[in-house]
Amino acid sequence: MAKPRAYFDWNATTPLHEAARGAMLAVCDVVGNPSSIHAEGRAARQIVNAAREVLAAAMGAQARQIVFTSGGTEANAMALNPHWQHLAGAPLARLIVSAVEHPNVLAGGSFTADQVEILPVTQDGIANLAALETMLAAGGGPALVALMLANNETGIVQPVADAARIVHRHGGLLHVDAVQGLGKMPFTIGDLMADSLSLSAHKIGGPKGVGAIILGDEAKAPMPLLRGGGQERNRRAGTENVIGIAGFGAALRAAMAQLEPNIARMAGLRTKLEAGLKGVSGTHVFGEDVDRLPNTTLFSLPAIKAETAIIAFDLEGSALSSGSACSSGRVQPSHVLAAMGISPDLATGAIRMSLGPQSSEIEVDMAVKAWEKLSKRPVKD
Ligand code: PLP
Repeated sequence: MAKPRAYFDWNATTPLHEAARGAMLAVCDVVGNPSSIHAEGRAARQIVNAAREVLAAAMGAQARQIVFTSGGTEANAMALNPHWQHLAGAPLARLIVSAVEHPNVLAGGSFTADQVEILPVTQDGIANLAALETMLAAGGGPALVALMLANNETGIVQPVADAARIVHRHGGLLHVDAVQGLGKMPFTIGDLMADSLSLSAHKIGGPKGVGAIILGDEAKAPMPLLRGGGQERNRRAGTENVIGIAGFGAALRAAMAQLEPNIARMAGLRTKLEAGLKGVSGTHVFGEDVDRLPNTTLFSLPAIKAETAIIAFDLEGSALSSGSACSSGRVQPSHVLAAMGISPDLATGAIRMSLGPQSSEIEVDMAVKAWEKLSKRPVKD
């Protein structure tokens, strides 16, 4: 009999929710292009617009503030543009990104490298708002500021609305990468006071390769990244991913309907998980004392390297990631932990477990047992 597997990598991606699967299967044979005027086209458009309404309701926005994209990466890249329509011929001069942003945001979008400045975070991983105030007050022209809602590695939640007040006071715009917050904490674009916000379907049980940018004000939009066709009110050219969008809408509807119970369930499991992990003496949990997503735990033991731990967990049946970027099989030190001033000794061992609404106590017990076993290994390799 195959060994049971436990999936603890929900921040990387999630299993497809049954509602999303059903919604996608139901529209697979819709033949029309949403831009076509005939009945087939109108049927496709209706599917896209129904999902748009779901996103709008969830985000406290109007349907016309939603632009579908190919995912969170494209939504971020679209927002990180010095040219916004309402600014006409006066582009933004600077991009300020927090040091803990996703690499896709740190890359700076359409800004040139010399226009990008890094906003430091405190030892707790929270954006330093006093530094933000100073940076903005120093002049240098109007700025776009990017601050994520919650970090994908640590789960630490950022004071986005406070940042928005500061940014707006200085005449700037705020973009919020809310990809990891969706389905794990309640928020609307109004709560965050964001000028733009990015979302991704595959983090909430939707399909991979579809996302959205939500505009805080319909009249304030970044210039399109993809130009040509008039789709998405001329904001994003290209035939819409009708099937994917249907799946996104269904997944989001399901996630919002269960938001509070899902949060409570994940938080309860995470408490049990962390108690078990910390039963191994020396285990350090990052960001434990600050506001975090209810599903994420990033932890480490100085004697154990992340690569070793991930392989050992995998052999014991648990799928999890390092908190670090992993390229070509090599675990690189996490830029998030480096920005928090965590010692390399602790940072190179950081491993992330992220739970989902379908995670179970049995899975948590399995992982804790694997951690106990691993910690008893005699030497560090
Ligand atoms: N932003 C954050 C915080 C993420 O965690 C991710 C996905 O890992 C992305 C953006 C990119 O989203 P997508 O995979 O939809 O391109």
